[in-house]
Amino acid sequence: MTSPIVTRMRGFGTSIFTEMSALALEHDAINLGQGFPDSDTPDEVKAVAIAAIQDGMNHYPPARGMPILRHAIAAHQQRFYGLSVNPDTEVLVTVGATEALAACVLALIEAGDEVLTFDPTYDAYPAAIALAGGTHRVISLNLEDHSFNPADLARVVGPRTRMIVLNNPHNPSGKVFTASELEQIAALARERDLIVVCDEVYEHLVFDAAQHIPMVSLPGMAERTLTLSSGGKTFSATGWKVGWVHGPAALITAVAAVKQFVTFAGAAAFQPAIAHGLTLPDSFFNDLAGSMQRRRDLLVAALRDLDIAVSPTQGSYFVIADVSAVTDDDAATWCRALPSEVGVAAIPVGAFCQDPADARNLVRFAFCKDEATLREGIARLKAGVHR
Ligand code: PMP
Ligand code: GLN
Repeated sequence: MTSPIVTRMRGFGTSIFTEMSALALEHDAINLGQGFPDSDTPDEVKAVAIAAIQDGMNHYPPARGMPILRHAIAAHQQRFYGLSVNPDTEVLVTVGATEALAACVLALIEAGDEVLTFDPTYDAYPAAIALAGGTHRVISLNLEDHSFNPADLARVVGPRTRMIVLNNPHNPSGKVFTASELEQIAALARERDLIVVCDEVYEHLVFDAAQHIPMVSLPGMAERTLTLSSGGKTFSATGWKVGWVHGPAALITAVAAVKQFVTFAGAAAFQPAIAHGLTLPDSFFNDLAGSMQRRRDLLVAALRDLDIAVSPTQGSYFVIADVSAVTDDDAATWCRALPSEVGVAAIPVGAFCQDPADARNLVRFAFCKDEATLREGIARLKAGVHR
């Protein structure tokens, strides 16, 4: 029987994260696949949500988000990046960054408009573009060093190009775009009058000497950039689904108009909790990045011990590994067998690529797990994976 789903969504199927997490559950595997931490949300952030529920904050919040959270988002952008954001007109609270992304694309892309992303691309982007009837075009990242060829930017842009969706720090590669890379992208956007949607959910997960630079802070970008983030990663609260988008008032009004018919509002009691989280001292944010960096180092060293080459990762929860030294299978086949045979789950990078063959041997591992879980995963890989 033909699937009842609309044709524009037919290519998408079940998300790779759902598939691999189900296999992890079935085989009691250590889940180094789907990116969610097993460390818990800070107690004082949870306490605000608990009190909010007990105090009766159990009904619809305002569609644009509670003032306390919109103000906290604006203050966070000022504190970390020196950005001046109007909490009343330039901020919209969403049900996770996922809804923010979908609402931005649905609000601003006409059928036939082209949207550029960097390949590999986080899976929600092509789906949102397809829902809007847009056309997806990619700029390839080199899968070894995650660089891109600036000439590709000019090559891929055309008369129907309307938007670039950038993810920085980047999932799945862990790339943190440098100032000069961001400027190359910004120059194209200014020259071709493009909107840039910049998904910065991993903004506080940046390692070594790398620095997170918001796209909106570049010259001439404030008028054309929508910045997305989420409390999920920063406060280890992925199930709360509190996200946001900020940008010029006219663009936010358009995105809000769509958002009100997707969810209207959500996560009432969690909004003041995330607002509190955003006001935590710098030490909280530094410790978060430091502890994630140590976990990255642990996993990267273990993979190298197994002769599995890894590409550089300076941000996010993720590292890309080349498994060709340990299997003749392609990465998708290897990942499907890994939970039952080795007791670990991981994600084939091909799931993020327009042409999965580009990433035939590449696997994404998540290191956002507590140290004991990571060590158990590593022990299983050492026992079960062989040259
Ligand atoms: N963007 C990227 C790049 C992500 O990796 C994720 C989720 N892990 C999201 C968006 C989704 O964020 P949220 O859970 O807030 O919807
Ligand atoms: N963003 C998470 C990841 O990349 C997954 C979130 C989801 O399952 N949609 O692993």
